[in-house]
Amino acid sequence: MERLIIIGSGPAGLTAAIYAARANLAPVVFAGYQYGGQLMYTTEVENYPGFTNGVLGPELMESFRAQAERFGSKIHNVDVTRVDFSRAPFRVWAGEDLYDADSVIVATGASARWLGVPGEAHLRGRGVSTCATCDGAFFKEKHIVVVGGGDSAMEEALFLTRFASRVTVIHRRDSLRASKIMADRALAHHKIDFIWNSAVAECAGDTHLTGLVLANSITGERSDFAADALFIAIGHDPNTAIFEDQLELDVAHYIVSGDGVHTNVPGIFVAGDVYDIRYKQAVTAAGMGCKASLEAEKYLEELDAEREAGGLLSAATL
Ligand code: NAP
Repeated sequence: MERLIIIGSGPAGLTAAIYAARANLAPVVFAGYQYGGQLMYTTEVENYPGFTNGVLGPELMESFRAQAERFGSKIHNVDVTRVDFSRAPFRVWAGEDLYDADSVIVATGASARWLGVPGEAHLRGRGVSTCATCDGAFFKEKHIVVVGGGDSAMEEALFLTRFASRVTVIHRRDSLRASKIMADRALAHHKIDFIWNSAVAECAGDTHLTGLVLANSITGERSDFAADALFIAIGHDPNTAIFEDQLELDVAHYIVSGDGVHTNVPGIFVAGDVYDIRYKQAVTAAGMGCKASLEAEKYLEELDAEREAGGLLSAATL
């Protein structure tokens, strides 16, 4: 029987683990086979406070993990395959093993959608990115391409104009999905141009991105297009498949929470990108992990007090 299980090992899950371990809860963390979250796929992180000269994403996550382990977190690199939150103690299956817990923090994150085209995986962190806030500053006075037609793509394109000499938005249709205000802002910006009815079919480059192969969505015609960076902004998918029948989710399958910490099941808490559709930053996820851990601690104290009172009551009845 565990006091607290944490599912996920990005900044949210591991910050929750650091706080919970320091509160002597000896949390069990299911880190997943691909532990560490999205920062494991980035190179330099320059906006995480405390690192004057930046830090490599994987290095940062290894430090989070070592800090959580230092205080007694038990971290397993396995995926959680099933949960049962319908009754307490809550049940969590990791592979063949079943764990019971008084409380759970869900910090499974969200995965950025990728295009799945040749060259993309090889050039991730070498000119191909899904996070303008993280990587935009590396492309000062460069020609940057953004793929997508939603609010995220417009936001990324507008943000990237701070660095780029030119930003080209490539969209697969001839009209934007983005809200009018965002679309108007991007369409009017002097540094942003648009290529309509086109998809990125290939990313070219050896050590870093040098160009793209574009395919016209109507004619199928392919053409080479020079670019220094590609930012893919075609949406995120929250990692909530195992919580579908267990927690309240919104239409986009993000976990619903009134305050960004509690879920609709008392004793189950949420932290990070699996809830946060808006900010999606390592530092905001870490802050949410801290909050979830403090709330879990409070919940467990109250549970203990209830159990003690229940025990005293039954002893008195005897
Ligand atoms: P989104 O609204 O789902 O837009 C995704 C865009 O990517 C669409 O234009 C879509 O094209 C395109 N796309 C999807 N798959 C693609 C593929 N395989 N290849 C090429 N293009 C592809 O996602 P989002 O922009 O991330 O926004 C998500 C939610 O967050 C929205 O509700 C949005 O309003 C909100 N949001 C708000 C703000 C803000 O208010 N500041 C900022 C960011 C996000 P189609 O149009 O053809 O489907």
